[in-house]
Amino acid sequence: MSKKLLLKDAHIEGIRYFETYRKQGGYTAAEKALKMTPDEILEEVKASGLRGRGGAGFPTGMKWSFLAKPEGVPRHLVVNADESEPGTFKDRYLMEFLPHLLIEGMLISSYCLGSNTSYIYIRGEYSWIPDILEEAIEEAKAAGFLGKNILGTGFDLEIYVQRGGGAYICGEETALLESLEGKRGNPRLKPPFPAVKGLWERPTVVNNVESIAAVVPIIDITGAEYAKIGVGRSTGTKLISACGNINKPGVYEIDMTITVEEFIYSDEYCGGIKDGKKLKACIPGGSSVPIVPANLLLRTVNGEPRYMNYESLADGGFATGTMMGSGGFIVLDEDQCIVEHTMTLARFYNHESCGQCTPCREGTGWMYKILKKIEKGEGKMEDIDLLWDIQRKIEGNTICPLGDAAAWPVAAAIRHFRDEFEWHVKNPELSQTQNYGLAHY
Ligand code: SF4
Repeated sequence: MSKKLLLKDAHIEGIRYFETYRKQGGYTAAEKALKMTPDEILEEVKASGLRGRGGAGFPTGMKWSFLAKPEGVPRHLVVNADESEPGTFKDRYLMEFLPHLLIEGMLISSYCLGSNTSYIYIRGEYSWIPDILEEAIEEAKAAGFLGKNILGTGFDLEIYVQRGGGAYICGEETALLESLEGKRGNPRLKPPFPAVKGLWERPTVVNNVESIAAVVPIIDITGAEYAKIGVGRSTGTKLISACGNINKPGVYEIDMTITVEEFIYSDEYCGGIKDGKKLKACIPGGSSVPIVPANLLLRTVNGEPRYMNYESLADGGFATGTMMGSGGFIVLDEDQCIVEHTMTLARFYNHESCGQCTPCREGTGWMYKILKKIEKGEGKMEDIDLLWDIQRKIEGNTICPLGDAAAWPVAAAIRHFRDEFEWHVKNPELSQTQNYGLAHY
């Protein structure tokens, strides 16, 4: 059984409210942290090995150490709660059921970074959660954990919740900052990075909800103890939102030492494939990471078991990228059609492209149209090569990672499931009435 750090109290009735959270030991990590110096907290976060839980997996302590500290210029912490990646819903769970864990994490992090005004930028579609967060903020303020002179330390902190307008691209940190400033959410060219010029050109750290929540147990048990959980550079615990053709979709906290096979088939987690079907493929880290066929998902190319951690998931035979991604674990059974699935994702990225860069704006539209054609049985063999060519021309040639995120699923689908694309081309009539999966199993 995986160790629980973030969700250990999630089952307790009323844990959403300050009184219950406090009774369970809530805010003791903040009390401890406020007696430490900001540098001591930073050292704990570095020692923990915590990697950003939003998708990129960049070491959090290192990111914090890049924050510029010019004299007299305010600094900000912005929590990225714009969780819009298809298949990813772990941050929603944290905010909905454990809002004080996030607020406590923000208090510790803001104190460490020197931010007196911090923000939570939340996905617009999570329409009921800002009220939960704002209620928690008011409770924390009434108890003296937010506002002026917190616990008599002289440290002041205000937290504001900003609702997004529903654009996926605002999950990209610089687009998020633009949106927070009241502008259209277009990603910025980097450099300068937010750590130097972020919100209103002030030094800013943008971190994912889960990353900031994880700071609480790090301070609680120390960075060194946190680093002992997990394996290698995959330290601590990770929230995984599991969905698709499984018996038990939901949010699970894992300690990154379990195998992918155990995660999918054990009753503690996904509980196996629905209706006893066969596992066909999986997208292990949210829709932006490449799809993986079952054989490569469960075993490495050397036949070793594959583990649910950053290194193991990225190892051998996959396209580049942090395969753990955002932790959105999408399972596909034998009945699913990879072409249809890839087309759905292409439509999503085309719709969500902000339109600033030609390869992304035009390329995502092309990919969607070609995939639609193939899926309907109207494609030619050359279309598969054209699709391959277009995704290659998008990857690495855009301002923000949305371009890569749109290209990788297409590349992986063709690389691992080319036979399905060819089947649609060779069987135009059949592909209009049934999908590849149903026709072959
Ligand atoms: Fe906009 Fe796409 Fe360019 Fe990102 S890659 S800036 S979403 S056009």
